[in-house]
Amino acid sequence: MYGSTILVVVFIILFILESKFQLRKRVQSRWRRIIINFLVSLPSFILLRLLFIPLMIWLAYKNEQWHFGLNYLYIAPAWLKAFIAFLLLDYSNYLWHIVLHKMPLMWRFHLVHHTDLDLDITTSFRFHFGELIGSVFFRGAAVVLIGISPLMVLIYEIAFEASNQFQHSNMRIPFRFEKILNNILVTPRMHGIHHSIKKRETDSNFSIIFSFWDRLHGTIRLNVQQYEIVTGVAVYPDAKELTTGKLLILPFTKIRKWIENGNSNSDDGNRNKLKE
Ligand SMILES: [Zn+2]
Repeated sequence: MYGSTILVVVFIILFILESKFQLRKRVQSRWRRIIINFLVSLPSFILLRLLFIPLMIWLAYKNEQWHFGLNYLYIAPAWLKAFIAFLLLDYSNYLWHIVLHKMPLMWRFHLVHHTDLDLDITTSFRFHFGELIGSVFFRGAAVVLIGISPLMVLIYEIAFEASNQFQHSNMRIPFRFEKILNNILVTPRMHGIHHSIKKRETDSNFSIIFSFWDRLHGTIRLNVQQYEIVTGVAVYPDAKELTTGKLLILPFTKIRKWIENGNSNSDDGNRNKLKE
């Protein structure tokens, strides 16, 4: 309940901020996208609240009885264990995001999220319910293997969703401030590059909350100017093909191969340096 209130407040604040301080130019009508993204998100939103989160919490409760998982294997202060569990859960979601891109079956579903031709806070809801169902197995295994407590499952879920809204928002944060923030967290400029139609840019910046997983694994790419980014998936450029109904059946159609469109965006070789 508190969690939902926090997330609604975060949504309202970011929605207003991205309207006032826009980062990337829009190519589509805002209201059309709001409607499509909310309708696409509806089945996964219901599944998430009624099935996914209760299931994760049930697993975490069971785990407390089983005493299974990494967190039960060592002795440390409770706050430190909680912190480590949070970090590991975020790391597992970084890995899961790579699976979504590299495993053809999961890409079918994650593709729906990436076909958005603009990026803003409503994109953070645009997930096909199939992606959520697929994630139950991986994220459930992570909860058990790490040995997460039920409370931490909830805390992480709230942080995960708030971060998801933040990084998809089209909000222009003062550049110097975002640069500092990005040392630790995934920010809108960083995640905007992940939504580019350029393959090597999409194949970067998989982190969810903390940005250092991409730094650690060399999957970071920050040196792309925001105005150069074309958002979407190159082989699905036509908005007429991206209506609510068509998006919901998209994973069950023949998936087009990713074709590179034009040259790569400017790249001075320093992938670790964020550009404006
Ligand atoms: Zn992605």
